Amino acid sequence: MLAALAVAAAVTAAVLLDLLPGSGGAVADGVPAPSLSASPHRTSAPGAVAEDTPPPSSSASPRGAAAGKRLPRSGPGTFTVARAGLSPASGGKHYRVEVEDGLDVDPDEAADRIAEILGDPRGWSHGGETTFHQVADASAGLVIKIATPDTTDALCGKYGLDTGGEVNCRVGEKVVVNLKRWELGSPTFDGTAAEYRALIINHEVGHWLGHGHETCPGAGRPAPAMMQQIKGLKGCRSNAWPYDGNGRYLSGPSVP
Ligand SMILES: [Zn+2]
Repeated sequence: MLAALAVAAAVTAAVLLDLLPGSGGAVADGVPAPSLSASPHRTSAPGAVAEDTPPPSSSASPRGAAAGKRLPRSGPGTFTVARAGLSPASGGKHYRVEVEDGLDVDPDEAADRIAEILGDPRGWSHGGETTFHQVADASAGLVIKIATPDTTDALCGKYGLDTGGEVNCRVGEKVVVNLKRWELGSPTFDGTAAEYRALIINHEVGHWLGHGHETCPGAGRPAPAMMQQIKGLKGCRSNAWPYDGNGRYLSGPSVP
């Protein structure tokens, strides 16, 4: 069955193996090839926002939230599950958060941030339309893992995805967030690393909810959360959220 998860073309840094829940098909945001020399997206061109943008050099990130933090290249491949209940209780879609062991990332703190993102009025909860309930058991239909680059590559590679030590991937119910992206954000994203985390989670969970890609609706408009912002903003402004402050969906034309 995994063979069905066709690997997508080697688009740069994008990332996700976007297997929509319940769908048999595989959609890919783009799988970064190890040799990205051919890709313009690997550059740190100003304005190039990324869905899962690898900065050319991690240390170059001016907005990195990781100052003073260790960003190991590899880890043990084992994970600690964040304790349950960091999201508003009861009902909703069950998800679990896991952080690879040995990282300077507290699983509960990461889960807390993810719960904030999912519960944000500008997020997919959209005033209660969808609710998310963080659990620590097998009832989770969505598992968000934060892992070192090597472990990310190993987990995603099992499904034929090449994350190149830089980007995230998504396969079915599993989202693997590369530690580097979680901690460093992207120097090409016009916002804080915290905001970039919101883009990672919103984009990936958006896929999990069944949303496909969208593109820029017009110059100066906010880039849809489902836009592959890594491929360039096409005149839009970088944006991490599905909805604006008034509850309007920040949409754009659908693209493959
Ligand atoms: Zn995507």
